[in-house]
Amino acid sequence: MEKIYKMSQHRFQSLSEATSHKPVNFLNPHQKSSDYYGSHVFNKKAMGEYMSKEALDSVTNAIEKGEKIGLPVADQVATAMKAWSISLGATHYTHWFQPLTGSTAEKHDGFFEPTLDGFAIEKFSGGMLVQAEPDASSFPNGGIRNTFEARGYTAWDPTSPAFIFGSTLCIPTIFVAYTGEALDNKVPLLRALQSIDLAATSVAQYFDKNISKVNATLGWEQEYFLVDESLFMSRPDLVMTGRTLIGHSPAKGQQLDDHYFGSIPERVMNYMREVEFECHKMGIPVKTRHNEVAPGQFEFAPVFEEANIAVDHNSLFMDILEKVARRHLFRVLLHEKPFSAINGSGKHNNWSLSTNTGVNLLAPGKTPKRNLLFLTFFIATIKAVNDQADLIRAAIASASNDHRLGANEAPPAIISVFIGSQLSQVLNELEKLENGKLSPEKKTDLKLNVVGKIPEILLDNTDRNRTSPFAFTGNKFELRAVGSTANCAVPMTILNMIVADQLVQFKQEVDSLIETGLKKEDAIFNILREYIKSSKDIRFEGDGYSKEWEDIAAKRGLKNTPDAPRALDFYLTKNSVKLFEKTGVLTRVEIEARYDILQEEYFKNIQIESRTLGDLVKNHIVPTAIRYQSVLSENVNRLKKVLDEDVYARVSKEQIDMIVEISERVSLALNGVAQMTEARKVANKIESTRDKSIAYCDSVKPFFEKIRYSVDKLELMVDNEMWPLPKYREMLYVR
Ligand code: ADP
Ligand code: MG
Repeated sequence: MEKIYKMSQHRFQSLSEATSHKPVNFLNPHQKSSDYYGSHVFNKKAMGEYMSKEALDSVTNAIEKGEKIGLPVADQVATAMKAWSISLGATHYTHWFQPLTGSTAEKHDGFFEPTLDGFAIEKFSGGMLVQAEPDASSFPNGGIRNTFEARGYTAWDPTSPAFIFGSTLCIPTIFVAYTGEALDNKVPLLRALQSIDLAATSVAQYFDKNISKVNATLGWEQEYFLVDESLFMSRPDLVMTGRTLIGHSPAKGQQLDDHYFGSIPERVMNYMREVEFECHKMGIPVKTRHNEVAPGQFEFAPVFEEANIAVDHNSLFMDILEKVARRHLFRVLLHEKPFSAINGSGKHNNWSLSTNTGVNLLAPGKTPKRNLLFLTFFIATIKAVNDQADLIRAAIASASNDHRLGANEAPPAIISVFIGSQLSQVLNELEKLENGKLSPEKKTDLKLNVVGKIPEILLDNTDRNRTSPFAFTGNKFELRAVGSTANCAVPMTILNMIVADQLVQFKQEVDSLIETGLKKEDAIFNILREYIKSSKDIRFEGDGYSKEWEDIAAKRGLKNTPDAPRALDFYLTKNSVKLFEKTGVLTRVEIEARYDILQEEYFKNIQIESRTLGDLVKNHIVPTAIRYQSVLSENVNRLKKVLDEDVYARVSKEQIDMIVEISERVSLALNGVAQMTEARKVANKIESTRDKSIAYCDSVKPFFEKIRYSVDKLELMVDNEMWPLPKYREMLYVR
């Protein structure tokens, strides 16, 4: 009792402290974002100030043309970075990388170096910039690197600029084994981006010889929840798993839709402003912020950037979200489904291709020729997703994202493409084209009335189909099925890889038609028509959340794979491995290692959730329910003593029913936990990672809902004062 009392005291105290929390003085009211934007990035401006022209040119060539940087130049860059970062208060540097755990990793080393004569100097050399060897034996490697060898190294990625976070100079790096295999999420991304550059450039040159480089672009939208820190700390499930494993829905959830785009609470606004401030210093172009659908849920989105930089920025952004939250006595929940029956969080990946000539290849233009260029990339993307839908599904698979996909609030586990009615019409017209050489009349008609008529601003831009996992939104595709915790590198690697491969095929097919004597344009039209025909099944314009869609999709032979362990299997199909190897994105050894890591991550997540749930039931819920039940029983006993028999009979029934119901719920919950524990024991004995994952999915996870049902009923019955955990209504309404 005392403990509970203390806790609720703490709860209130901390809540009121937090509510009266003064805005941190992080912003000088006289400063605009543009005054400090990028001030903590070692960008061209900083390089220009601190480096010789020769070194600057060398870095620029490395960024733009992938040229190597020699050690003498690296020494110059390091010296410049050191001077620049020390001037901004940095004392340490780190190779910042993205191991396969999904988050980011850093090991800080001081610049400081003692000298023999008892003094110290600040040191940072080219060698230290270019390569480091973190003691990385504990990072997942899927068996590539034996832990006793522990040999992996990080290497500087000059295409993503260094930045200062706190007092540390962070150098974006790749992480590879000494034997050369990728151990991180960045290496395959860089490989995929290189292959889409080559493939897209060579196709784009059919239309414009000036195009010599194509960059994939990414604009992510990050959804998240905020919870008061003291409430978070009182929920072992949030602390251990990032989501609530129990908790009854509040009387008011999101049914009134009053949170979406509503006015942002002041405390949250202060938090957001500080997040923006930190981001802008580090050159992360966050621009929009708003309330999301669920109470306590919010979103940030930046202006899109080149994909590699955008991926780094998203990883860094998630870090900033968490760090700044603590300064405001908040905890940020990045989990895909922190609260049951309340919308979960995703991370839409807006994706497009942009040329050195400033053209967005996925935006329609003014002329028929320009639109044929657009259609080529548009249709090739649809075809790629049609042929490699399995890989897209695998790329978004995780234990936490399973809660969203197929939960009728997020794109379903069936991959499909939405393009809107105007472009559907265009594709339907193109599909009717005759085979081979096009008659001049037909071609003129086509160019003027079909291709030429695609409006630059598409109406469908507004009639957004929010239920589609992959939607065309006017000048980009939006991959909506990505989970909020995901590292965008994974879906971006897959998407760019499959489109690159499709474009290579397209080029080959068009070239071989040209060899048979067809004109270039005719050849392009012919291949596009074939692509439209063969990728019809993936196109779906209806309600992706509906039961009908499941049936239609099944008839079309589209796969519906709701569970991550089975979705991950798609990584290892013959077709997938061939594609990874052909594009050079991952070797067989690398993809097999990744697969193993992901399966392991899956079952470990479910294992942790299952243990946490068991503990909660046994240590928190059942003891509380029993205590309340004794109060009821005592009361009933006393009533029996003091009341007349007939009065007692009349008024005691409901209380006795409650006593019985509590017993029943307690027994069901305990029984569920016992059975779940048994299932876990069986699963733990399984050798193969994959089979273990499947066992956790099929025979451990199903107990979660059953147990929760009884617990949530108890929550409604037991004295609120006694209930040991903050409730949904307390956590969801941040003040
Ligand atoms: P919403 O989907 O929420 O309505 P917007 O349409 O405003 O949002 O844009 C969402 C995201 O799409 C933003 O991050 C924006 O920068 C990004 N975006 C816009 N154009 C492109 C592009 N060509 N390539 C990649 N991302 C883009
Ligand atoms: Mg969006």
